[in-house]
Amino acid sequence: MENSQRIKQLQPSITLAAADQAKALQAAGKDVLMLTLGEPDFVTPRNITMAAKRALDSGKTSFYTAAKGMPELLEAIILHLQKFYDVKYQTNQVVATTGAKFALYALFQTILNAWDEVLIPKPFWVSYVEQVQLAQGRAVFVETFEENHFKVSVDELEKRRTSKAKAVVLNSPANPTGIVYSADELRDIGEWAVENDLLIVSDDIYGRLVYNGCKFTPIVSLSEEIANHTVVINGLSKTYAMTGWRMGYAAGPTEIIAGMVKIVGQATSNLTTVTQYAAIEALVGDQSSVEAMCVEFERRLNELYPKVAAIPGFKLDKPQGSFYLFPNVKKAMERCGFADVTEFTGAILKETGVALVTGAGFGAPYHLRLSYATKQEIVEEAIRRVTKFVKGYSQK
Ligand code: PMP
Ligand code: GLU
Repeated sequence: MENSQRIKQLQPSITLAAADQAKALQAAGKDVLMLTLGEPDFVTPRNITMAAKRALDSGKTSFYTAAKGMPELLEAIILHLQKFYDVKYQTNQVVATTGAKFALYALFQTILNAWDEVLIPKPFWVSYVEQVQLAQGRAVFVETFEENHFKVSVDELEKRRTSKAKAVVLNSPANPTGIVYSADELRDIGEWAVENDLLIVSDDIYGRLVYNGCKFTPIVSLSEEIANHTVVINGLSKTYAMTGWRMGYAAGPTEIIAGMVKIVGQATSNLTTVTQYAAIEALVGDQSSVEAMCVEFERRLNELYPKVAAIPGFKLDKPQGSFYLFPNVKKAMERCGFADVTEFTGAILKETGVALVTGAGFGAPYHLRLSYATKQEIVEEAIRRVTKFVKGYSQK
């Protein structure tokens, strides 16, 4: 039987594909350094795993919960957002999902009719585009400029806005660039969105991961009108080293959340029950492990950034958040005789065993992404190998 047109057109996730390829090489006995995924190399903090264990030991896992999540979990999400965002949501304004990825999926399914447009600043995280298209919407790319640290401006957004525009995606701190928008920049974009009655999809998943004194501003904290036009997407994967637990959530206008709850109810029933118990502890329990992980990411960033910037033909600004470095490697590609960054990334993997992610899937044909959510010695060894590779090529 043939697959649907929709599935034939759907691209696989390049981040997951790059990791799978590297893992397959590793399993075949190759010496591979994995700098692919945004997957913290820490174990989930003990207070969180203990909460899950208590739920398991007391048999609290043998039932479905409400599709939107248990009342105690919704309360924990509300308290968390009150503490970290200074915004008070009601119970019917939040929903727990299987990862932030599924929150985004449910959101686009909820808000988009065929050919509705979603403005997506480039470079973008790989799944936005495919998820918009799965909901029959149209992804409209908005240019940003490296000289302006890849930050999208109201002028560029306005250039791409048509009467079909329904939403705009913001991701600060960003994957893959690591940039963080200031409060003023967010206010400009927020007011423009309100004026044009656009929904802001604010993907805040890296919100707690900011470094060197940089501050994260939740766009919803800027005004009530902006908050009324925003759906916050967030999750535990990055902040609490919980990628495997698959917990995400959304907060926003009642009607949109109700639509998302219907999708959750029909697609997954509810977020895994044991994960819900772990999530309550993560969201409202002791936060000291988050601070410790953040300090470690900051230390790695400060030590690794100059080394990556010193690789011949690599150029990048110092990021302020998330845990990625996203150098422009156009000059290195030229030195090594590559026109295509995916081929360049493939050659690095083949020749050096260093697994990176091509910028092509992020809408950036001259960049590649390196994740430092992995042991520093591994990243340092990777940098040595890539440096040798690029230097070796230019001497040929
Ligand atoms: N948004 C961004 C920008 C991401 O990088 C990721 C990566 N995992 C997600 C959302 C989804 O996260 P998860 O599904 O693990 O919560
Ligand atoms: N978001 C992470 C990344 O970009 C994990 C993989 C994925 O969900 O795409 O590496």
